[in-house]
Amino acid sequence: MSRATTDRTGAVDAGRASGTRRGDRATPDHRSDPTPDPTPERGSTMYQLTDVTKTYRRRGEVVRALDGVTLTIPAGQRVAIQGPTGGGKSTLLQVLGALDRPTSGSVTLAGHDLSTARDRELTAVRARQVGFVFQGFNLVPTLSAVENVETAFAAAGVDATDHRRRSLEALDRVGLAERAGHRPGELSGGQQQRVALARALVTEPAVLLADEPTGSLDEATRDEVMDLLEGVHRERGLTLVVVTHDSAVAARAERRLRLAAGRVTEL
Ligand code: ADP
Ligand code: MG
Repeated sequence: MSRATTDRTGAVDAGRASGTRRGDRATPDHRSDPTPDPTPERGSTMYQLTDVTKTYRRRGEVVRALDGVTLTIPAGQRVAIQGPTGGGKSTLLQVLGALDRPTSGSVTLAGHDLSTARDRELTAVRARQVGFVFQGFNLVPTLSAVENVETAFAAAGVDATDHRRRSLEALDRVGLAERAGHRPGELSGGQQQRVALARALVTEPAVLLADEPTGSLDEATRDEVMDLLEGVHRERGLTLVVVTHDSAVAARAERRLRLAAGRVTEL
């Protein structure tokens, strides 16, 4: 299946997006546009997971990281996922982010089936629809802040001429315009996380997935990063899924889930 076809499938599911920010783009395959997929309307289904399992084999032993997860996440929802270490939270985010396929069950993202998609399709979905933020920031130490943000375009495989300008705009959005030339080692933890957030957002994903994004930040910096996440959630109608151990972070979400022993419950 060509990417254009799958995009249109997603667009149909996304619903008549007139009036939404990106709904009026007529040419989803335009090479210079890294974000051809319209953002689904708030309330339409962003994710549908049905009886998802993920098993790993470790020294002959089978580990059930996800054990029959059925879950619907509407577009635009702000979801927090809590639960004990080893409960399957990172595994679930990897499945949501098209980094990994489930062992069984089905996962759709805006109507696009991720469980049966081939690697190329998963790569395209990941690059165009999903932004990731991690606890450890995962910045390249030898690159400046703006160069780190620009790596998102290389990952998306998009050949455009305005990467630098858009990366600077993304840094400006997170309040770091004047630090664009600094390397990660010259930035505080909160500033590094803001660079990582700019990198996740610069390709204008429909979904932002964050795995313990405030886990290595102090409380004041944590609140700043959460304010930013919530600000972009509001502005862009993003679907936001945040894994957190911090109940102050979870309390800010619209919906709270607990994931333990590979099973999800609503809190
Ligand atoms: P959490 O993020 O909630 O701490 P994870 O999703 O990282 O949980 O892990 C869930 C379970 O799956 C754990 O038992 C973990 O050891 C196991 N697991 C995760 N990734 C792998 C892997 N690549 N290989 C083997 N086991 C894994
Ligand atoms: Mg984890």
